[in-house]
Amino acid sequence: MNELYHENTFSGEGFTKRLDEKRSLGYTTDMHDDCKGQTITTITQLEKYLQLTDEERAFDSLEGILPIAIPSYFFSLIDKEDPRDPLRIQVVPTIHEGEYLEDEHSDPLAEVDHLVTGRLIHRYPSRVAFLVTDICAMYCRHCFRRRFTGTFQGPATKSEIQEAASYLKQHREVKEILLTGGDMMTLSDSKIQELISLFREAREDLVIRLCTRIPAAYPARITPKLVAIIKSFDTAPFYLMTQFNHPRELTKEAVAAVGLFVDAGIPAMNQSVLLKGVNDDASTLEELCNKLIFSRIKPYYLFQGDLVEGTSHFRVPLEQGLALEKELRRRLSGLAMPLYAVDLPQGGGKVPLTEGYLQESSGCTVWNFTTVEGKKRSYPRQ
Ligand code: SF4
Repeated sequence: MNELYHENTFSGEGFTKRLDEKRSLGYTTDMHDDCKGQTITTITQLEKYLQLTDEERAFDSLEGILPIAIPSYFFSLIDKEDPRDPLRIQVVPTIHEGEYLEDEHSDPLAEVDHLVTGRLIHRYPSRVAFLVTDICAMYCRHCFRRRFTGTFQGPATKSEIQEAASYLKQHREVKEILLTGGDMMTLSDSKIQELISLFREAREDLVIRLCTRIPAAYPARITPKLVAIIKSFDTAPFYLMTQFNHPRELTKEAVAAVGLFVDAGIPAMNQSVLLKGVNDDASTLEELCNKLIFSRIKPYYLFQGDLVEGTSHFRVPLEQGLALEKELRRRLSGLAMPLYAVDLPQGGGKVPLTEGYLQESSGCTVWNFTTVEGKKRSYPRQ
């Protein structure tokens, strides 16, 4: 076990102070009580365990940026000798987060424009996203929702949940809800029970997606008791939506945590982000997707980086992404192949990104195709 488990790294830091202020307002983040003493939250703490680069150290001069949180479990997976370690760069911030490009936005998906209650986003006709909390066990430096994440607003109140549930009661066209944030699994078991029961009271038929990075960040949070609580509201399906970006995140502990859901009949789907220096090569992505399938987690999406302020150092050119997608399609089975997609700016929604395999319709007799291997084939029009 990492020595950080024995050190109260939270105490006296701004992060704890602001969380404590939220608690005094009636919020609760019990998971962070469990995690207390096990999470790195400042550059000063990082300095004790890592030889920081100048770019990492300089992050301290920035203000109002996504806070730091690295659970000691995840920290223990980092190669301390390698400043470019793909796990390290996902969680250790750099000064580059202060660089805002002209094309970037704090809310490129226009989520704020689609808020229908304080915490409910209704952007697509058949599904909604509920911002359960802004708190995460681990703050990913590529986070696309950093306008909200880690802003110390705390978990949604009961009345905010009821407001969203009542909206869903009136909008039967909504078939699915994403419980997201932040990370919903940072709530205590009793808060998760209350959250799901309020939505289930309003809509027994709603498919619920449990969106979480916790299996990668802090798998000990997932317990048989938590899964049993969720299963007790099984009037409609649940789906577990994970985020694993690199094969080394799929440890024995992480796979076992997801396995608790899968064994209970809750399928697991993974949404990776294509990240420069983390997974922007075909071999890493191939290994990630094959490991996911082997762990009973379906690779669902591979997202092109959103145009979020302060994240340009993670973005992979779209042309390179398309070439990677092409190569993956050649190497992976259909089951292991994620959908490469981009969430278009100004709330344009998701579109798939793929090579044009259908070349043209020649005359009126056939469709011409290029195969994954680059060969020519045709298919009759009728
Ligand atoms: S867990 Fe999700 S919401 Fe939280 S920082 Fe990471 S990407 Fe953002």
